Amino acid sequence: MESLTYLTLDHDVRQLPISDVEALASRISGGILRLGEEGYEQARKVWNATVDRRPALIARCLTEGDVQAAVHFAAAHRMLTSVRGGGHHIAGNAVADDGLMIDLSGMRGVSIDAAQRRAHVGAGALLGEFDRAAQAHGLATPLGINSTTGVAGLTLGGGFGWLTRRHGLTIDNLLGATVVTADGAVRHACATSEPDLFWALRGGGGNFGVVTAFDFRLHPVGPEVWSGLVVYPHGQARQVLGAWRDFNRTSPDELSVWAVLRKAPPLPFLPASAHGTEVVVLAALYCGDIEAGRRATAPLAGFGEPLAVALAPTPYAGFQTAFDPLLTPGGRNYWKSHNFSRLDDAVLDVAIDAAGRLPGPECEIFLAQLGGALSRVGAEDTAFVARDTHYVMNLHGRWTEPKDDAQMRAWAREVFREAAPHASGSGYVNFFTEDEGERVASSYGVNHARLQALKRRFDPGNLFRMNLNIAPADTASRRSP
Ligand SMILES: Cc1cc2nc3c(=O)[nH]c(=O)nc-3n(C[C@H](O)[C@H](O)[C@H](O)COP(=O)(O)OP(=O)(O)OC[C@H]3O[C@@H](n4cnc5c(N)ncnc54)[C@H](O)[C@@H]3O)c2cc1C
Repeated sequence: MESLTYLTLDHDVRQLPISDVEALASRISGGILRLGEEGYEQARKVWNATVDRRPALIARCLTEGDVQAAVHFAAAHRMLTSVRGGGHHIAGNAVADDGLMIDLSGMRGVSIDAAQRRAHVGAGALLGEFDRAAQAHGLATPLGINSTTGVAGLTLGGGFGWLTRRHGLTIDNLLGATVVTADGAVRHACATSEPDLFWALRGGGGNFGVVTAFDFRLHPVGPEVWSGLVVYPHGQARQVLGAWRDFNRTSPDELSVWAVLRKAPPLPFLPASAHGTEVVVLAALYCGDIEAGRRATAPLAGFGEPLAVALAPTPYAGFQTAFDPLLTPGGRNYWKSHNFSRLDDAVLDVAIDAAGRLPGPECEIFLAQLGGALSRVGAEDTAFVARDTHYVMNLHGRWTEPKDDAQMRAWAREVFREAAPHASGSGYVNFFTEDEGERVASSYGVNHARLQALKRRFDPGNLFRMNLNIAPADTASRRSP
C-alpha cells in the first residue's frame, strides 16, 4: 500500500496511508501539494533563501473550514506543523521539513469599511495589498517597511513601521482576530470575547493557533506624505548619527527618522562617484501636514555636508514600497537584532565601526527610531512587553552565494556581541533567527509566565511549535492566566 513518510511533533519518522492524505485533500478547497507536484516548488519557497525545506504536505487553505480540517489532521497524526502567512520570517519557521505546511497565501482578501475606519484582512495578505486597499480611502494602519511582508506574521509579533510613533504598533490597532486553535475550534478574539487569547495574540507570535483573519483600526494618512532620504558619506557618520540621535529626543510623533549604514545603491539622485561607497542614510517620513513635514525635517540636511537630499511629498503607499528593491526575495539572509531604550555614543561607535567592515555590498546596519505611541501602552497590556524600545538595531547579513554563509553570519554575530552591553535586553521575536530560541523567554520578560499558562490552555500539546516557541507551562508552574 502506498504511504507518505512524515515527521511527528517529536521528530519521529512515521508512515501515513495515502488514503488518509486523499481524505485530507478532499476537505481543503485549494487542495494539497506533495513533492514533485506542479506548484510544490513555488509554494515551499520563503523569502530567505537559506531556508530550503521540503514539507511532506502543503495544505492550500482558502477558508476557515480548510484551516480547521488541516489542524484536525495535524493533531490526529501529531504531524510536525508549520503555518505560512507571507513567508517572510527570517527563521523560516513557515516551512517544516517532512511536516504539514498550513499555507494561508490564498486567503488574502482585504475589505475596508471607510466609514467605520476598519479593515478586515485575510491571513495571507501582504502589507502592500493592505496598504493599497486602505489608501484608496486615504486610510492606513501601522505596518512594516517592506511591502511583500505578510500581515499575519508581522501582526502576531507586534509590527512596527513609519506610523508607529504616531499610532502605535500594528497590534495596538488590532481590534480582533479569528483563530483556529489546536483543538480545531474557531474562536473570535477581541476585547470582549476570549480576552486572554486576544492579549496573547498581540505579540505572542504563532503560538496560540492559526489566525484566519484580522480586524484593524485605520487612521487618515496621506495619501501624500512628506518623506524621503538624506545621504551622508561614512566619513561624517559620528557627527551625523550623534546629531540625529539628539534631534530625535524632541521630534514630534508624526516624524520617524531611521538611520541605515550601508554601501550606497546606485540611486539616481546620488552622484555616481558615491555609488558603492559606505554611506549613512537618514530615511524620514512625516505622517501629517506636508508643510509641517517640510519644516520638521529641515534640520536633517544640516547634520553635516550631505551627498544628497531627496525629501518631497510622496504617495504613502509608494513610500511603503521604496525599500523593496533592496529586500527582494531569494537572497540569503542572516539577521541579528537588539532593542535599545536609548542610544549611547558607544552604540553609535559600534555601528559605525561595523559599517566600516561590511562583509558584502548588500549588508547593512539599520537603526529604527521607535518610542512615541508604542511607549505609551503598558508593558503588560499586550503580550508584546518591550514598550521601552526607542530604537531597534538590525544587523542585516545579506548575500548570494552559499560559500559566504559562515563569513556573513560571523559578522552579524560579532557586531551583535559588541552592541549587547548597551542594549535593553529584550528582543523582537519577528527578527529572531532560527538559532535564537533561547532569547524567547527573556524577550517576553514579565509576560512570559502568563504566555506559558495561556499556551497550556490553548495548545497544551504544543502543536504550534514551529515558531519562536513559548513552551506550555507544566502543571507545577501553572498559574491562572
Ligand atoms: C525584508 C523584511 C522586512 C521587514 N520589515 C519589518 C518591519 O518594518 N517591521 C516589522 O515589524 N517587521 C518587519 N519584518 C519582520 C516581519 O514582521 C516578520 O518576518 C514576520 O514574521 C513576517 O510575517 P509573514 O507572515 O510574512 O511570515 P511567515 O514566515 O509566513 O510567518 C512567520 C511566523 O508567523 C506565524 N504565522 C504566520 N501567519 C500566521 C497565522 N495566520 N496564524 C498563526 N501564526 C502565523 C508562524 O509561526 C510563522 O512561522 C521584516 C522582515 C523582512 C524579511
